[in-house]
Amino acid sequence: MQDQYRREINYLRISLTDRCNLRCIYCMPAEGVEKQHHRDILSLEEIAEIAEAAVELGINKIRLTGGEPLTRLGVTWLIKRLSALPGVREIGMTTNGILLPKMAQELKDAGLTRVNISLDTLDAARYRQITRCGTLADALAGIEAAERVGLTPIKLNAVLIGGFNDCEIPAMVELTREKPIEMRFIELMPIGDTDIFGPEAYIPVDTVLERAPELQPLPDGAPGAVAKLFALPGAKGRVGLISPISHSFCSSCNRIRLTADGFLKPCLHSSREIPLRGLHGDELRRTFAYAIGQKPEEHNVLSRTERSDAARNMHEIGG
Ligand code: SAM
Ligand code: SF4
Repeated sequence: MQDQYRREINYLRISLTDRCNLRCIYCMPAEGVEKQHHRDILSLEEIAEIAEAAVELGINKIRLTGGEPLTRLGVTWLIKRLSALPGVREIGMTTNGILLPKMAQELKDAGLTRVNISLDTLDAARYRQITRCGTLADALAGIEAAERVGLTPIKLNAVLIGGFNDCEIPAMVELTREKPIEMRFIELMPIGDTDIFGPEAYIPVDTVLERAPELQPLPDGAPGAVAKLFALPGAKGRVGLISPISHSFCSSCNRIRLTADGFLKPCLHSSREIPLRGLHGDELRRTFAYAIGQKPEEHNVLSRTERSDAARNMHEIGG
């Protein structure tokens, strides 16, 4: 379905939970997070019903996110349901990967197409620092498990933070030489709890091209794709640069987001939310279509000081 700016909206991102087994410092406060009560979040049946309505309106790509989507009980059941919907051509997941060694095979068997795994650093001490409690070896084992069962092509997401992981750009780019992965660098967004970072943390993703000058541009990916693509000469993989701050991609935005507690967010950086809970059939489809119609032409300019208008932290929206 097209929105009022003639953008084709075909991509639904579903947050399955606001809970997480890590506590990344740019995403979630260390303490005092008020967890949504189980009764306040959509049941898996409700999510499946909303996804069905979305597919009838032209959604053909679904991504499961969170919080950490693999901590939601029944996620495999949901993937089976979603993959049986006619017209769905891709079900992806954004995960920290920690639970993949246990779950990758059942997820693949259920119909999950591929995974994006968050990996901000290749250094064990830095990994612990940024996730507050995670172990790098667990995330690396998750990546291996995804490769083994064919949840591919794998994309690795690193939030680029000046003074923290920019020194690792060459090593992270180098991962793409021998592996058919996409190493993606994402600009830190001023959303939720990022006040703890100083101005030096907000660096443009073009920094990657300065630190890895061998990278060559590739043609743009699929319509609506947010990453600008590059590759090292002769490499098996590629590098994606995602720049929500330095260049916004509103004009080609093809997505809409469902929060775990049942609200549609027409735009990540707006506080506008449309409740879907309790709606069924025509009313559900009509309200979903209305939310697509509410997508703004663009969001406000973002910078370290001009913060996102999203009224929630990232762990509640899913990125
Ligand atoms: N737990 C899963 C994970 O970490 O992949 C999925 C949810 S997480 C909120 C989704 C993505 O949002 C992750 O890649 C994370 O790095 C990114 N993210 C969270 N806060 C961010 C911020 N302030 N700026 C940029 N990206 C952010
Ligand atoms: Fe959890 Fe993902 Fe947020 Fe990290 S980025 S705290 S893994 S939801």
